[in-house]
Amino acid sequence: AAWITEFVTSVEDDRPRVAASGRHAERFGGQLVLVTGAGSGIGRATALAFAEAGARVVAVDRDAEAAARTAESSLRAGAPAAWAETADVSDEQAMERLAAKVGAEYGVVDVLVNNAGIGLSGSFFDTTPEDWKKVLDINLWGVIHGCRLFGGRMAERRQGGHIVNVASAAAYQPSRALPAYSTSKAAVLMLSECLRAELAGQGIGVTAVCPGFVNTAITSTAHFAGVDADEEKRLQRRTARIYGLRNYPPEKVAAAILRAVARNEAVVPVTPEARGARVLSRFAPGI
Ligand code: NAD
Repeated sequence: AAWITEFVTSVEDDRPRVAASGRHAERFGGQLVLVTGAGSGIGRATALAFAEAGARVVAVDRDAEAAARTAESSLRAGAPAAWAETADVSDEQAMERLAAKVGAEYGVVDVLVNNAGIGLSGSFFDTTPEDWKKVLDINLWGVIHGCRLFGGRMAERRQGGHIVNVASAAAYQPSRALPAYSTSKAAVLMLSECLRAELAGQGIGVTAVCPGFVNTAITSTAHFAGVDADEEKRLQRRTARIYGLRNYPPEKVAAAILRAVARNEAVVPVTPEARGARVLSRFAPGI
């Protein structure tokens, strides 16, 4: 059947998507790129990739020192300018202050990457209302604040732009272990598709990036809030066994983000299992 062919191809077709040299074909010279959660993992790798591609970078994180390290590394990687800003993306007032400062001092953001997020594992009945609130406040509301504040200024400017929201394969892959996290990411995926439709006429692209397991602090068990460490380890081992992979580096997700912006892609599953699960969810949801 067609979906089997597409499934197998999507899982196997990893290598051609990533430049062997690790260099990015895309150039973002003169553009202002703001990345949230830029202090670590995918956000840090993305900030550095845009820096290598010539962009001016605003590295935002709630961890001030981590944001500062990314800004310094961005300059070394080739960014003509880079700034560190401290903000908690779930804090509406802090995000308004950030947007006002960025607008006044650095300019209108050309590419916004709403990447900041936290992991949360535990079955539905193990997940407390406080846990739900925490994960939705950061993973969903953080994206909403970013899109409203920076996307709004992009739209007013009338010169186009691009918004990348980092969702997850968890957005379309049901899991007993991650109900709150998966729900937050499914909402980010739908939000991105709705906003893409709304902003298309204004030359603003919106992309939802959906990674599977990536080797960052969030997938190291210590970093998961409220965590069932054994379950998380078990999931990782199972994924590794099924797909024969481990240690998918955040730099590859960053490369996929740059490509998605350059090509204005809508939904981008990254990592072989994320692509495979996307095909299954569309063509064979019962499997
Ligand atoms: P990470 O923990 O390495 O990095 C997350 C960064 O976000 C940290 O620097 C942290 O300080 C920052 N952050 C967290 N909450 C914040 C807040 N409220 N305000 C501002 N900054 C905040 O994790 P990562 O794996 O790089 O995750 C980045 C994004 O990718 C997340 O949205 C995550 O859900 C998503 N994702 C990760 C994976 C994976 O396997 N690593 C898979 C799919 C999706």
